[in-house]
Amino acid sequence: MLLIWGFKVRVRLMGSTTFFCPTCGGDREGRLGTARRWFTFFWIPIIPLKVVGELVQCSTCQTRFEPSVLQRPTTASLSEVLSNAVRVVTVMVVRTGDWSLPAMRSAAVGDVAVVVPGYDDATLESDLAAVDPAWAEQYVAPLADGLEVAGKERFVADLTRVALAGGTVTDDQRRLLDTVGRTLGLTPAHITGIVASVVAASPSPPRPPAIDPPAGHAPPS
Ligand SMILES: [Zn+2]
Repeated sequence: MLLIWGFKVRVRLMGSTTFFCPTCGGDREGRLGTARRWFTFFWIPIIPLKVVGELVQCSTCQTRFEPSVLQRPTTASLSEVLSNAVRVVTVMVVRTGDWSLPAMRSAAVGDVAVVVPGYDDATLESDLAAVDPAWAEQYVAPLADGLEVAGKERFVADLTRVALAGGTVTDDQRRLLDTVGRTLGLTPAHITGIVASVVAASPSPPRPPAIDPPAGHAPPS
């Protein structure tokens, strides 16, 4: 028997936006559409039925995604988010240690200057007055989805190196590193491992670095 009626899903274009296409692996134009089911007769859609969902279609590879794909930062926005996070959190590392140490300040300026051209000690000084370490999570959180594990490790390791340039990782700095690592989605053991490997690789620290053991794993004294 010939089936002369049926259903068909048609997509209506609602607009377009730039998004990070996971299939292409880069920023692409995405077409936003509403998918609606139609009742068809002789394969011709005649009665519009319910909207079955919204979608985003990559205009390059044509892959269709759920709208949640738009929550992932684009490469362009990710690089801006990353620059801001590197700047703000590096300043927080200095602020939670002894601000007056020139070695730590210059390590911080060196790291931030990579992402913020022209960054210098005077800018650091004004950032120190403006940045509150309590904001760490909100600056770092957008990176949790956008950075690969290697990028997250590098981020925490760079911060640890800045802290160590002051001779030791203070308790406050260690707590900040924990907050940053956890916000990035790293486990406490992973964070401890990154910090420990940076400390182990640091050339002859002036005094033994004080690293908090993870809670519940205090070595017997
Ligand atoms: Zn694509």
